[in-house]
Amino acid sequence: MQPATVGSKPPDRGSSAHSSISGHCLCGAVTITVAGEHDPRIGACHCRMCQRWSGGLFLCFTANASAVAVAGEVRRYRSSTFAERAFCPRCGSHLWFNDVDDGGKAQSYELMPGLFDAARRWPLRSEIYVDRAMACVQLVGDHRRKTRAEYEAENPFIEGDME
Ligand SMILES: [Zn+2]
Ligand SMILES: [Zn+2]
Repeated sequence: MQPATVGSKPPDRGSSAHSSISGHCLCGAVTITVAGEHDPRIGACHCRMCQRWSGGLFLCFTANASAVAVAGEVRRYRSSTFAERAFCPRCGSHLWFNDVDDGGKAQSYELMPGLFDAARRWPLRSEIYVDRAMACVQLVGDHRRKTRAEYEAENPFIEGDME
């Protein structure tokens, strides 16, 4: 017998989970708890800014700002007019990327999955700036892929990738 739920998965706007997970940076000075809505899938970005910041491949998952609690000292770098990138000032571990409003308030978090043990089992959701990927970084699977031109056409506020 077919279960009634087959094929009734919601459209790809987001899988979401509400379980509580926690993670920490390499030295342990910063702890992040996500207790509330988050998407348990990974997004990858190959833009030049993310390559420089991450060392090659930027990975993240999305959580509602209201679900995220951070303990410990955090440094923030305003990498563009609309976004900031945070890191631990002691060990340098990257913590998150997020869009901020004009008052500097976080709208949502794009958290670094490597901080969270739970995220090690999560699937890849999407990959952007695929045409900018380093030659050694080729991600397999049938996830969504967007080139720089495709992504920037859909997000006109982005000023364009640095060369
Ligand atoms: Zn640290
Ligand atoms: Zn990027």
